[in-house]
Amino acid sequence: VDQAVCCDISGPLPVLGRDVTVPLVTGGEVTYAALDYAASAPALQRVWDDVAAYAPYYGSVHRGAGYLSQLSTDLFENARRTVTEFLDCRADDQLIFTRSTTDSLNLLAAALPDGCQVFVFETEHHASLLPWRDAQVTYLDAPRTPRQAVATLEEALAARTASGQEGQGPALVCVTGASNVTGELWPVRELAAVAHAHGARIVLDAAQLAPHHPVSVQDLDVDWVAFSGHKLYAPFGSGVLAGRADWLRAADPYLAGGGASRKVARRTDGGVDVEWHDTAARHEAGSPNVIGAYSIAAACNALTEAGFDTLVAREQHLIDTVRAGLAEVPEVRVLSLFGDDAPRVGVISFVVEGWNSSHFAAALSAEYGIGVRDGLFCAHPLVRTLLGSDPQTQGECGAPEAAPGEKSLNAIRVSFGAGTPDEHVERFVGAVK
Ligand code: PMP
Repeated sequence: VDQAVCCDISGPLPVLGRDVTVPLVTGGEVTYAALDYAASAPALQRVWDDVAAYAPYYGSVHRGAGYLSQLSTDLFENARRTVTEFLDCRADDQLIFTRSTTDSLNLLAAALPDGCQVFVFETEHHASLLPWRDAQVTYLDAPRTPRQAVATLEEALAARTASGQEGQGPALVCVTGASNVTGELWPVRELAAVAHAHGARIVLDAAQLAPHHPVSVQDLDVDWVAFSGHKLYAPFGSGVLAGRADWLRAADPYLAGGGASRKVARRTDGGVDVEWHDTAARHEAGSPNVIGAYSIAAACNALTEAGFDTLVAREQHLIDTVRAGLAEVPEVRVLSLFGDDAPRVGVISFVVEGWNSSHFAAALSAEYGIGVRDGLFCAHPLVRTLLGSDPQTQGECGAPEAAPGEKSLNAIRVSFGAGTPDEHVERFVGAVK
């Protein structure tokens, strides 16, 4: 299958939906400014073209004897290799195609060895915060600097060693690479070093990091990494969990069914004996999402060809434009855990004094054709900490807003990336002003 032609990288990468016009309540229409990349980035045109190029060769995968089945199987397994390389995995790592980051972390949670203790900062996205069983989790307080994050983890793991809990089972640290609320980068390499120094393992939630920065499993020295295709400029429906094979091989299959099982036979007592695969197939039961895997690989190729140096530099220019524009509006408060100078990706949340965040976001859409998000961004404890609202009582997703003069109960988030033209962020800044 021919690869689609690579695109011009001096400006935004072409994405789906870039020419869509939307009506304005004030009359007329305007091209839609998609500034909600942190929720789902528009798929790259290049990825869509690659999928279209594959479409005529569409065939069943695995075990199909026909030519197109063999081709589809090759494309699926090549996609696994491409993504493995994109993540710079170790030679003996496993890469499992899942539905999303949420699915990947739930898979890992289901594969934890007995007695495994999990350490997770309360500031995590719910996908990293919630898959673990209550009895096994230690929630760590929100740090206010990256150094404090490292110190907090160090203290928690040292306490585990001191109390002799180490003897009861292994430990896992789960941490995000870039916050979906503040966009701030977390000190992943340092946290991994602390985890390993205490004999713990670490899984990186790269849902917001991978679309913006190269992620090297070996360089960061993380044990697993999880991300979602739909945030990495591929269509919805596919994700990845990659990393150490041992726990995955030892665990029960995430889903039981065909593809995961090597041998199934009736027993004389009436039951069945099952021998499960110990490859990635063990956790990929059922017919796989070949298009999903193929499109993630296409996105990895497109980003690698565009070059992360170029992408990061362009995105930094967009971040600077938004930050400088918001700084000129005295009523705007940008939410930050690590402070103004912290390195970040193109994800910025803020509140506007005297404004209901939901109304503000609705006005950006209706009056300017700008799509942002309002709410608590599936990171309720973090957003409440940043807003200074009472953790016990305030702020559900979609809950009524604070009355005028009261503290905001939710926030507005603007997020962008490789497909964002300057005009979109300039329109946004102008609209806020
Ligand atoms: N982790 C982070 C940091 C995220 O931002 C998100 C999505 N907002 C997820 C996990 C979950 O991703 P998905 O919805 O694709 O499972």
